[in-house]
This record gives sequence, C-alpha cells and structure tokens, in this order.
Amino acid sequence: MPQAALEGLNQYQDEVDGAADYAARVATAKSAFSNRNRRTNAIFRDVRAALAKMAGDAVRCAYCEDSAADEVEHVKPKDLYPQSVFRWPNYVYACGPCNGRKRNKFSVIDAGGTMVDITRARGAPVVAPVEGLPALIDPRSEDPMQFFDMDLQGTFVVLEALDLNPVDEARATFTIELLGLNRDLLLTTRRDAYLGYRARLSEYSARAEQGAEEAELDAIRSSLLRSPHPTVWEEMKRQAHLIEELRMLFAAVPAAIEWRHFPNAFAY
Ligand SMILES: [Zn+2]
Repeated sequence: MPQAALEGLNQYQDEVDGAADYAARVATAKSAFSNRNRRTNAIFRDVRAALAKMAGDAVRCAYCEDSAADEVEHVKPKDLYPQSVFRWPNYVYACGPCNGRKRNKFSVIDAGGTMVDITRARGAPVVAPVEGLPALIDPRSEDPMQFFDMDLQGTFVVLEALDLNPVDEARATFTIELLGLNRDLLLTTRRDAYLGYRARLSEYSARAEQGAEEAELDAIRSSLLRSPHPTVWEEMKRQAHLIEELRMLFAAVPAAIEWRHFPNAFAY
C-alpha cells in the first residue's frame, strides 16, 4: 500500500474516532465508508489495487477463493467495530455472495473462553459489543492453513485441523459456518480445481521430459497459478506425501512444491 493512501485512511479513521460516542461512531463509520469507497476516490483506488494484488493473478475472493473479488470487505464489521472501519489490516477483497452471507454476523471468545454472538439485531440499541478475540479466523493476520484441513480424496470439505486447542477449534467451526465454506458449489469447484492442478502439473512434467523450452514450461506454471482455489493447491502440496498420485507428480516436478499463488498476505 502506498504511504499516502495509508495516511489518507488514517485521516478518515480520525474523523470516525472523533465522533461523540459509540453510536455516533457507528453511524459515521457507515456513512463515511459508503461515501469514500468509490472508484472516484483515489485512496480507495489504491486500496482496491493493493487488495487485488493480494488476491492473486486470478483476483479471487479471500473467503471462498472461487468467485471474482470486487468488494472491499471488513473482516471486523464496521457496524460493530467503527474503530476499524478505515484500518488497512481490516480489509480483504471478497465476492458479493460471501460479503452478503457474512453481513454483520460476528462472535467473539470472551475472557472466560466462551463464544458470544455479538451480532446486533435489527432495532437493538447501538452499544459496544462484549470484548474478546474475534471468532472469525482473520486471513490478514492468521494463516488459515493452520486452522483447517481439506479432504482431497472424496468430499473436498474443509474441516477443523486436528489437534487444535478448544478455542481455535471453535473458531474454525464458526468460520466454516459463517462463510459457508462447505456449500455445494464450493465442493464441486474445489474438485474441479484439484483435477485442473493435477492435469497442469502432469502436462508440465511430460513437456519437461520432452525437452520443451523454458518459456513453454513457464506458461504452464503461470496458468496453474492463475487458477482459482489457491488453498486446494497449498493442500495438495501439504498432502503430497499422503496421496500416491500426488507423490508421484511432485517427485517428477520437485520445484512445484515451492510454487505459490501469491506472496504471503503479511507482506502487505
Ligand atoms: Zn466469495
């Protein structure tokens, strides 16, 4: 993110933080965000450009990894956390259906380790939510691969990783449900992604063996890394030693174990 854009966001945030009380800060956050989150606003053009880079060459949604990302989404909802409405680390690029599904639903883990639903019901008083660790896994500051496993050998569902502590397990379950990570369409498109990656890697291996030029091999690699569902690819690398067909493919193209869709999100 350009420094000028970060400073611009901070100034927008100062206006929100300066409102008289919590309810006023929520109201200001909502109106200020909708006024500024426009293509005519230079700061938000920079925000969108940086988010698009983080979303990989295919510019896919940070949540489902399937649809095109085109909405600036707050990991912590602006209705509940006006103090984060213009904070760069609170933004991801998401698709409309994921954004709509998530809306302002949110839970936190309170000081006693209990999950508390802090979604504000329509018409409920606008008061600050209970403090606590957000239940939603934050893709900007946490590595989802540590919280989830994916079944690559049948269902393509996302599951809570084994050996999580109870709080992290509850957070993983909450995230799967809130974002609908196992909706039917995603199970189908993850399977398609798996088959596509497998085919591309196999093609790479065959062409390399036939002595193809570097440029042709690079084109196959770029095409693989432009495909949606980057986590399917990461999971294939992680499980390469467990699944025979993957073990053989990665043994034929050892360099592929280092191929990534995009740099680590923390770099932004
Ligand atoms: Zn999505």
